[in-house]
Amino acid sequence: MLTPTQTTQLKAKIEADILQLQEDISGLEAMTQPISPDNAIGRLSRMDAINTRSANQTALNAAKVRLAKLTQTLPTIDCAEYNECEACLVEIPFARLMLVPESEYCVACSEKLSE
Ligand SMILES: [Zn+2]
Repeated sequence: MLTPTQTTQLKAKIEADILQLQEDISGLEAMTQPISPDNAIGRLSRMDAINTRSANQTALNAAKVRLAKLTQTLPTIDCAEYNECEACLVEIPFARLMLVPESEYCVACSEKLSE
């Protein structure tokens, strides 16, 4: 379980990340509008525009997934189990949570799971 100070720090971090993501999402949404078939895309060829759009689409989807996770995480950080690894129940270090507040696993388990 986190100390009250850690909970406050982490909460501020998650809220800041959520705001940043919301900003990123609205920027990316503007960049992933359908591309018109005419020549209104300046110096980029249509192919480049399509590639850029698909990269932005990928970034947009990732941002939306992370936003949803953080939004779900926020109300749970007061729980005793919040900073326990889902797999091995070890305590996830606070530094890791500050980097990735939505971590469900400790470093060792998440490496094992991503192999
Ligand atoms: Zn673990």
